Amino acid sequence: MASDVRCGLSSLLWGAGLVILVMVFAVIEVPSDVSRRGLQLRRDWISLTEVEGYVINGVNATNIRAFLRHLTLHPHLGGTEGEWQTAHWVADTWRQQGMDEVHLVPYEVLLSYPSTSMPNKVRLLDGSAREVWASAIKQKPLYAPEEFDPDLPFTFNGYAAAGNVTGPVVYAHYGGSKDFAFLAEAGVNVSGSIVLARYGKAFRANIAKMAEDQGARGLLLFSDPSDYAPEGPDFVYPHSYFMPPSAAPFGTTKLVDGDPLTPFYPAVESAFRIPEEEAAIPKIPIQPIGYNDAYQLLRELGGAKAPQRWQGGLNITYHLGPGFRESDWTVNLEVNNRNTMTTTYNVIGVLQGREEPDRYVMLGNHLDAWLFGSLDPSSGTAAMMELSRVFLQLYNETGWRPRRSLVFCGWGAEEYGLVGSTEWVEQFSTQLSNRVVAYLNVDMAIEGNYTLRTKAAPLLTEAIYESSKKIPNPDPEEVLAGRTTVYDTWAHRRPDPHEPHLPRMQSIGSGSDYKTLQHNLGVPCLDFRYTHDNVTLGEPMYHTLYETFALVDEIYDRNFKYHSAITALWGDLAVTLAESKILPFSLDVYADYISKAQLAIEEKYGQLLSSQNICLEFFTEAGVNFKKAITSFKKVINGLDRNNHVITAPSKTDAYGATAFAGLVDTLFAIEEASENDKKDLWRIFAHHLAAVTHLLNTAAKVLSDDL
Ligand code: GLU
Ligand code: ASP
Ligand code: CA
Ligand code: ZN
Ligand code: ZN
Repeated sequence: MASDVRCGLSSLLWGAGLVILVMVFAVIEVPSDVSRRGLQLRRDWISLTEVEGYVINGVNATNIRAFLRHLTLHPHLGGTEGEWQTAHWVADTWRQQGMDEVHLVPYEVLLSYPSTSMPNKVRLLDGSAREVWASAIKQKPLYAPEEFDPDLPFTFNGYAAAGNVTGPVVYAHYGGSKDFAFLAEAGVNVSGSIVLARYGKAFRANIAKMAEDQGARGLLLFSDPSDYAPEGPDFVYPHSYFMPPSAAPFGTTKLVDGDPLTPFYPAVESAFRIPEEEAAIPKIPIQPIGYNDAYQLLRELGGAKAPQRWQGGLNITYHLGPGFRESDWTVNLEVNNRNTMTTTYNVIGVLQGREEPDRYVMLGNHLDAWLFGSLDPSSGTAAMMELSRVFLQLYNETGWRPRRSLVFCGWGAEEYGLVGSTEWVEQFSTQLSNRVVAYLNVDMAIEGNYTLRTKAAPLLTEAIYESSKKIPNPDPEEVLAGRTTVYDTWAHRRPDPHEPHLPRMQSIGSGSDYKTLQHNLGVPCLDFRYTHDNVTLGEPMYHTLYETFALVDEIYDRNFKYHSAITALWGDLAVTLAESKILPFSLDVYADYISKAQLAIEEKYGQLLSSQNICLEFFTEAGVNFKKAITSFKKVINGLDRNNHVITAPSKTDAYGATAFAGLVDTLFAIEEASENDKKDLWRIFAHHLAAVTHLLNTAAKVLSDDL
């Protein structure tokens, strides 16, 4: 699918196909038993309910555990041997499972690595430039055997510039724009300093950009124990999932998506590459440190006392700086990262649809991890491998294919800034924007076991509500309380703040591989997982050494029930989106979302805009028109006869895909078998269908030739 000529051709035909699809729905009647026979099932017939049951009940927790064990044996950093092995394993597994097509899609990209011999270092220097203290160069191994591997990389942040800088430290809270504004107001000069900021609120690449723009010489990032180890130092990994003092989360510091050298175009061999100096990557050195090391700096920090809301969980009073109580002390930051061209692979697996094979329901997750990545991303990858197994087993046993194609995606180098998915979307944007029905991303299947958390395009709201109502609740205590489905606990524990009888849906921003599909192509996307309750700022072990198999197997999900629930939910959503004759898109929710967003803008900025003589009248009217169009479109949809058949269906003799004019062929097939009495009606249907198809072909020809 990735690069063949067919893609281009059928994309060309798709515009015409849409016209055909809509019209055929309205005119053609084909008896449903004809379409059934057309399915070529190894079993006689399998209903949608049976398919759903098979997928939901077919998910096996033991398999997910085994997949996760395999995926977390070694680090699998983007563009390294570990990622390539993961990609090949995924490809091989999909081939063994029986996927119709499996493609390894390579890109040549600029990624960033720590030096293998010269670790990055933070040093506190006294007035004579003598070292008073130096930071750890790696996170301390604590529990799982793999943490003790001597070849693990030194601690670093992706794309942080190499450099050796010295200066006073300024504490910048979470490094958000308001935090920097506060420092400016307080007269604390960030320029020329080394900023020390907390992880957890702003995306680290935004912190980096702000620090750089303000003239900082360098940036240090740490996670405060008040956010990630709220129960104190004795209740941290491996005794719990809270963060130990030596944890220094890795993470990209690049803000622009994809390969830095090939903006807007795919990083294929023939690509034009901009010089590295022009790439949108940080110019300053940046380094993550543990809160044990942040303590060493914060306790020496001088300047004014930080405001109460800036204080943290370390047993000291946090000051703003700049500089230290010993006025001639400084911090030296040495970063020896290097940017290098390397290959990253996406793995794309296709289970072809039986009736609309060139409409894709995409499911995916990234393959690369900063280290072992047991939650991010391997919990999601393990779920994906089990889900593909279930779908292909269903196909192998019964011959069932989804109506539309299922496209499974393993993305490369996501952690560096959505590199593999962005390059792929850049490469295939024309086909994808015409053909992708929805993309379902599960980056982390779990980051807790409290409730479901979704980020979604408004169009997918009802689809996920309905699917989550079918998934048995993995939490036995919740079941005892009468909440028997995933939906029940979600509605109970995470109600929508405005409509408390409904579960909360978060809108979808960026942060994982749905980004380019959702925001550049407009494909409705969804990202979901089981999440936690008592951690405010995300999963404590995120991007650290301690994201190990043991963390999942012994602490988060002892029998993989939560993984199983997510896998089943993913599967049911895929079935719904791939099978429904009319896509289950929440048009009203979308219209409401738009009008609410318009209202919010008006309320918040109305006065400001009118002070500039800018009126929102046409904007509001467009929203109203959109809503009206949805209302009349829904009338059309509700009036459709859903038993009518479409232009393509699997042929009697080819279980793999669609046959053109299946309506004609299958009706003829039915005529051959029908009683004399039924034949009359069937011929009438055939004549009607033939006339309609002839007309539609003429229409398609006109669309393609641009004739009026
Ligand atoms: N998921 C990665 C992170 O949060 C990359 C996100 C991005 O570049 O948008 O660090
Ligand atoms: N795991 C992150 C999320 O989806 C994204 C990433 O860092 O890969 O929240
Ligand atoms: Ca590119
Ligand atoms: Zn991730
Ligand atoms: Zn990540």
